[in-house]
Amino acid sequence: MRVQRLKRLLLFGPYIVFLIALACCIILAAFVVRQDRRIGALEEEIGHLTMNQNSLIEKVSSVDSSVDELKSAVGAISNELSLVDISAYDTKPQGQARTAWPKKVYLTFDDGPSQNTSKILDILDEYDVKASFFVVGTDNPEYRKLYKRIVDEGHTLCMHSYSHRYNEIYSSVDAFTEDLDRISELLYKETGKRPFAYRFPGGSSNSVSRIPMSEFIEVLDERGITYYDWNVVAGDATNPMLPAEKIIENSLCDLNEYEEAMILFHDLSNKTSTVEALPTIIEAIKEKDIPIVPIDETTMNIQHYTNTN
Ligand SMILES: [Zn+2]
Repeated sequence: MRVQRLKRLLLFGPYIVFLIALACCIILAAFVVRQDRRIGALEEEIGHLTMNQNSLIEKVSSVDSSVDELKSAVGAISNELSLVDISAYDTKPQGQARTAWPKKVYLTFDDGPSQNTSKILDILDEYDVKASFFVVGTDNPEYRKLYKRIVDEGHTLCMHSYSHRYNEIYSSVDAFTEDLDRISELLYKETGKRPFAYRFPGGSSNSVSRIPMSEFIEVLDERGITYYDWNVVAGDATNPMLPAEKIIENSLCDLNEYEEAMILFHDLSNKTSTVEALPTIIEAIKEKDIPIVPIDETTMNIQHYTNTN
């Protein structure tokens, strides 16, 4: 019996082993096929994800370029804004209320030289009146000659920054100092005289600078430079241009509020009504026997900014 069973085992044993191995192979093959399908599906998913990623990258780069366009548009607008003088829109400081006429009047012209500077100088010469010019920097050789003419004719040449770009000048104390030294050096080179007076673009009460004005004033103090604002506004910085009659009215109506009146005018090429208004303003002041004088080192500090600001 035992021998018979052993014989059967020897006869069928290999078949059984073969069958088991075959079954294993089939199971393994099925497993491999299944895994292959999974890998295929995964590859497809990865493909989709890659496509999505690519389209996202494309979208992000198009958003990026839109942001760049917006940035340059904002830059252009802020540059435009810095060229517009906002001083005329600033609130007027509260002066001492008076009923008498001022003892002195200062005519001050900002933003030149321009195409109107010579015309303004001719009018001043005609009436034998001295004024103060708060000028900016220029590369134009014809305009540069006007710095010297202003000085030679007895007017006071003062600084109003080199670039007049608020966003640059007020960006840091270093930027302000660099701009200040640049205009000071230019005026010294052109006239042989070191300017002693400064007017902040937008005035010392401007609402543009995020840095306290006291920090810029400190730079002026270190150099012995005095800053001047104004207490009477001709209103000629507005766009569209103000008619001459209105400039005359603005310049004269507030004069009696101050012991010393400092009128703010603008010397820009497109401000022709300022030139037109000037003779009448000078005649009206002269008629009241009020001296019209240029700024000098003894001029009282007409300043908007105080430490209590
Ligand atoms: Zn200005």
